[in-house]
Amino acid sequence: LPHNSQCFGSVHSSFQKLIKNAPILIGEFAAPCTLMPPSPFLCMCVDETYQQMARETLAELDWCLDQLETIQTHRSVGDMASNKFKRMLNRELSHLSEMSRSGNQVSEYISTTFLDKQNEVEIPSPTLRERDKPMCHISGVKKLTHSSSLSINTTMPRFGVKTEQEDALARELDDLNKWGLNIFRLAEFSNNRPLSCIMFAIFQERDLLKTFRIPVDTFVTYVMTLEDHYHANVAYHNSLHAADVTQSTHVLLSTPALDAVFTDLEILAALFAAAIHDVDHPGVSNQFLINTNSELALMYNDESVLENHHLAVGFKLLHEDNCDIFQNLSKRQRQSLRKLVIDMVLATDMSKHMSLLADLKTMVETKKVTSSGVLLLDHYTDRIQVLRNMVHCADLSNPTKPLVVYREWTERIMEEFFRQGDKERERGMEISPMCDKHTASVEKSQVGFIDYIVHPLWETWGDLVHPDAQDILDTLEDNRDWYQSTIPQSPISPPPMPLGPDKRLNACIDKFQFKLTLDDDTEGGQEEEEEEEEEGKTTHNHMVLDCSQGEEEGEDVVKDEREGDIIEEEREGDIIEEEREGDIIEEEGEVGMEEEEEEKRGVLQRAQSGVEIHSDTSPVEDEEEEDSSSPADDT
Ligand SMILES: [Zn+2]
Repeated sequence: LPHNSQCFGSVHSSFQKLIKNAPILIGEFAAPCTLMPPSPFLCMCVDETYQQMARETLAELDWCLDQLETIQTHRSVGDMASNKFKRMLNRELSHLSEMSRSGNQVSEYISTTFLDKQNEVEIPSPTLRERDKPMCHISGVKKLTHSSSLSINTTMPRFGVKTEQEDALARELDDLNKWGLNIFRLAEFSNNRPLSCIMFAIFQERDLLKTFRIPVDTFVTYVMTLEDHYHANVAYHNSLHAADVTQSTHVLLSTPALDAVFTDLEILAALFAAAIHDVDHPGVSNQFLINTNSELALMYNDESVLENHHLAVGFKLLHEDNCDIFQNLSKRQRQSLRKLVIDMVLATDMSKHMSLLADLKTMVETKKVTSSGVLLLDHYTDRIQVLRNMVHCADLSNPTKPLVVYREWTERIMEEFFRQGDKERERGMEISPMCDKHTASVEKSQVGFIDYIVHPLWETWGDLVHPDAQDILDTLEDNRDWYQSTIPQSPISPPPMPLGPDKRLNACIDKFQFKLTLDDDTEGGQEEEEEEEEEGKTTHNHMVLDCSQGEEEGEDVVKDEREGDIIEEEREGDIIEEEREGDIIEEEGEVGMEEEEEEKRGVLQRAQSGVEIHSDTSPVEDEEEEDSSSPADDT
């Protein structure tokens, strides 16, 4: 199949048309016979032959469509779109970085974190003493002697955690199913057990303990043990963040457009993935671990180091005493669950962001909706793709939350970054972008983060579940404006030009948003989004998702081609696959209309949103870590 999205688009739509027509054809063949049957017997034979043929054709076409949607979209078009996005973002970022020093820092941060681009770092001579430990040892799993297991005799607290403030906690939990739940207050009232408490509440709410026959004491023991493996002294990536992502995932799972789309097992997997997705996070980024020759980086060969580690720890903890919450699942269920969870947690590596976004875009383009407005995701590949994006969205949801909550997160992530920066300074390493407390611009970084990363992602999610995410997008845009309005007008470096550096930075950001509105006109005469490689002169129309040009000039084609591939392979044809039939497919009209709307919106829309710099792969590190040990080495 040609690597050309235009071609793909037309083949795709012609297949759709054929499939739509085929049933009518069957009807037409039948019609003359029933009207005036000159020889009923003969007619029936002919009739049957035709019908048979038509049915076979239909099946054939159906298969082709299927192939197109799964193989073509997910692989080639997805990759190309991803590369294209990366290239465009790169170009914009390089303009941004020329604008001012803080612009440069924001740009560096985004490209190192979300584009998988390594900045060339002088790697200091290894100061770490590698201790001889067998490689198979998963570091970070501690033996706990504390209260995590409940004795059989104690009665189970109402919310799974012991607390003096049960009523206050109950009031907070009224918001369990809402986007605005205040996880900080919940932590306060739950005796600082936000993760255990939220997991307990969610599993009760969804009746998952019954469905999967999870003994309640086992459940509580596991979630408490898990919570204890988050580092309380890490400013951002602690159990509060895990609780937040879990609760956000819980809400997203209930979005009307996804009603009854996922199986109980998939829901269980998504919540479990969210809960473990940052466990034992040392508060520093993958890059930091790699640059300091940490044992973790060694263990995972520099690839998604932390995410691999979170998974290993999360699963390993199931082996602790009375911790196997999956003990009553069948072998198949356990296998499927594990596969789903691994997929979702690995997708929280922020360097995979662009590929995820590109795949999601592609999915939105071809989305099918049932008559009741629910998304039709009849293949495993589609469902896992939505799930991994869902957890990723939840992981990048801080700027979409009520401003007070969002600001608290921002403070925390910056603190984590700055601590990493301090460590880098101490070690004489180059300080990572946004990690230098003396130069970082918090507000600008948030605006940049929203404009380049969070808004494009949430906007796409919003298209997928339209119109469910409208409130979330509105909040995001309000928050973005709020941060924008607090950017201090730099008095330090007097503007060398009539237009000061900050204004130019903002202008640049605005322009970019404009572009990133990605209206995907895959069909029809599109203005080619030429590679106006010439600096400055970008025609800021909009970004066209025209993948046909996806791979020219390899220059800044970012190199994570292979990601996905392996995983992709395996995703195919999984056990969880289920038939979902009987749903009427009526995607055509819907999508068409949305595209038009999109177009209109695209022109006016400027992503205004607040920003947050959370990234899992990002920086900072915990107190107790000394030069001599890898961060995850709690002993
Ligand atoms: Zn996270």
